[in-house]
Amino acid sequence: MCGIIGYVGSKEAVPLLLNGLKRLEYRGYDSSGIALIDGPEIQILKKKGKLEALEQELLGGKQKATIGIGHTRWATHGAPNDVNAHPHLSGNGSIALIHNGIIENYIELKKTLLTKGYTFKSDTDTEVLVNLIAEFYDGDLQAAVIRALRRVEGTYGIAVIHVDHPDEIVFARKGSPLVVGIGEGEYLIASDLAAMVEHTRDVVFLEDGEVGTISRNGFTHIKLDESPISRSVTHIDFTLEQIEKGGYKHFMLKEIMEQPITLEDSMRGRLLEEVGEIRLGGLTEHLDALTRAERILLLACGTSYHAGLVGEYLIEDLARVPVEVEYASEFRYRHPVISPNTVSFSISQSGETIDTLEAMREAKKQGALSLGIVNTVGSTIARESEGGVYLHAGPEIGVASTKAFTSQVTIFAMLAILLGRQRGMSDSVAKELIIALKKIPSQVDQILKHQDQIVDIAKTFSRASNFLYLGRGINYPVALEGALKLKEISYIHAEGYPAAEMKHGPIALIDRHMPVVVVAPQDKNHAKIVSNIEEVRARDGVVIAIVSEDDHEVDRLANHIIRVPETHPSLMPLLTVIPLQLLSYYAADLLNLDVDKPRNLAKSVTVE
Ligand code: GLU
Repeated sequence: MCGIIGYVGSKEAVPLLLNGLKRLEYRGYDSSGIALIDGPEIQILKKKGKLEALEQELLGGKQKATIGIGHTRWATHGAPNDVNAHPHLSGNGSIALIHNGIIENYIELKKTLLTKGYTFKSDTDTEVLVNLIAEFYDGDLQAAVIRALRRVEGTYGIAVIHVDHPDEIVFARKGSPLVVGIGEGEYLIASDLAAMVEHTRDVVFLEDGEVGTISRNGFTHIKLDESPISRSVTHIDFTLEQIEKGGYKHFMLKEIMEQPITLEDSMRGRLLEEVGEIRLGGLTEHLDALTRAERILLLACGTSYHAGLVGEYLIEDLARVPVEVEYASEFRYRHPVISPNTVSFSISQSGETIDTLEAMREAKKQGALSLGIVNTVGSTIARESEGGVYLHAGPEIGVASTKAFTSQVTIFAMLAILLGRQRGMSDSVAKELIIALKKIPSQVDQILKHQDQIVDIAKTFSRASNFLYLGRGINYPVALEGALKLKEISYIHAEGYPAAEMKHGPIALIDRHMPVVVVAPQDKNHAKIVSNIEEVRARDGVVIAIVSEDDHEVDRLANHIIRVPETHPSLMPLLTVIPLQLLSYYAADLLNLDVDKPRNLAKSVTVE
């Protein structure tokens, strides 16, 4: 998920690779490294932490290599440390590999390689791949890469060098971007244009299922099935800043738009549709404790707390286990009662949120099994928890969380199915949910494609001073999340409420100046929420309704209608939240605010 750069030409590779890696820093990473061919063996330098650590290591070095590969890692398998950092070397020291993505079947592949006498130094999935390539190598590096990749399930962008081929870098992609840069007598390969634009602006974008080689004399590529490809060179004239944000104006918008991919990444390898089961590797050793669980405690702050609230609806509804969601900051100071057989999940994107971490420590001290749901591998919560589930959503840079929220909800949906299956959920119900989950990424894509309408709504309301967000049932936490997003980045006051609770207070605020966003998809609460919309309209409130695709019942009442595709009612929050993310983004952008770094907020809240 992080950064790749490779160079072959006549210039010194080290400064070029370091510069390329610096250009990839904005994506977030936890370690970095380079591999060079200069003489009879491959030299590898890799370090945990910031690039400066790698630079220090290289200072005074005499590397004159003119071929090399460099990587910034954002750990998915194994803690961020020097050993797990890339490049990884094959056991015989002849091949070095950098990899972005996840090799899903690495455990099986590793077992086979172990029986053949291979040994492993790191915990990564990547080290398995480099040894698999070594296993197939018989003089032709690209052929060995092809043979190895045919056995791989998962995603990858890779660059590979072999000590006996000091003129070649082999690359391949599936699910992780790669682009070839074309210079004069020199070629580059990178995961991101930012890493190479200072060097060349003539590039060839690779597509999934392609593999090839760059050398000092040229570049070739074919499909993994060895069929030919013809693709023309593109000349890039974006600025570096435009490139970093993937062409979007802000990281937040980029992150909203990449949700179809991040959601797929969160589900990857975890949905066993044929048998109606869920596989969450980090929970395997706790399956008994989960079967015995009499109560589940979800500890979180901010957006993660809202994901936890959706989790409560999901788990109680589908698995019938009582769930309590607590603000981590309150939990740790209120002398909580932890009954036996309580399982806690601490939820944090960064895995460093201090209140959540302390709440987890408190739950553990009192005897609860302490599991985590985090995005950042090797973070403090990931290390201190007894197990858990990673989001695999990739680094989130915008302060207002978007893709982490939808991935957290996805994890809860999978967890609810897993717990439900332990408690008698039928095959057919589980399969129906899994099929619906698999469709979510393309349905999110469909909503994102119709964002023009949301831009228009944002234009109408960006000057409002108050907003009310209403929802019922599982969509009530979505109303809370929509209100939070708007406050965070546009500084417009917004409140989220359970729609029926409105009568007990907020209804007093409603007049023609008050936009009311109602999350009202087709579900068992639909008739009730339509009545709530009537109540708002009767007081001249302006209604923006999020409804199901084919539902026209609200048309006569709402001033603005946003339609989302139909899904299983339990998964609806994954769709209804998308227009709300877009609405807050565009409202803030229209107000010319610093969307990615809103005032007074920090991305990782490490103070109490
Ligand atoms: N799965 C690999 C690892 O954990 C690659 C991570 C990345 O994309 O940076 O090392």
